[in-house]
Amino acid sequence: MYAINLNTDLILVNKDYALDKNYVPNNLVKINNNFSTKEIFICKKVKYYFEKMCNDALNNNLRIIAMSGYRDYEYQKNLYNEYLKFDKKEIVDTYSAKPGHSEHQTGLAIDVCTDKKDYIEFINTSEYIWLKDNCHKYGFIIRYNKNKENITGYKFEPWHIRYVGNSAKYIYDNNITLEEYLKIVRNL
Ligand SMILES: [Zn+2]
Repeated sequence: MYAINLNTDLILVNKDYALDKNYVPNNLVKINNNFSTKEIFICKKVKYYFEKMCNDALNNNLRIIAMSGYRDYEYQKNLYNEYLKFDKKEIVDTYSAKPGHSEHQTGLAIDVCTDKKDYIEFINTSEYIWLKDNCHKYGFIIRYNKNKENITGYKFEPWHIRYVGNSAKYIYDNNITLEEYLKIVRNL
């Protein structure tokens, strides 16, 4: 099926809903160098809230930086095919999206890390502890949360945050996924 809620904070892209290869979000801008490991683009509104969040984290001596943001269809295609060289398709599908099915193509998703730049270890950092309980204040959710694999289709990814705007608080307070939230508010 084609992705729903296009060009809104609640765009849904997952294993069932996909973007076509020509979809590029509006208003892509670069994340400030202080808060990214390389040149990373993201939707303008998301940049504002992400950098605000990173600044507030810094005030608590925590350094959250982006290591991936907007990724186009071709990039995801290469990434997915690269993983297939190492793992079986059933395994790859638990941690990587097929091209068109990646939230990174929406321009609303960011993978974060700390100065150590190791996202596998991110879960054991003070940055993660802060992020999981504060990111909703800036409109973000931990998109692929613990014990939600059966709904999101992905293993727990503490480093992958998704901008959903005002809906973030409800999603956080009720410990639900974007899929469950959309069922409640849109009768999906
Ligand atoms: Zn990600």
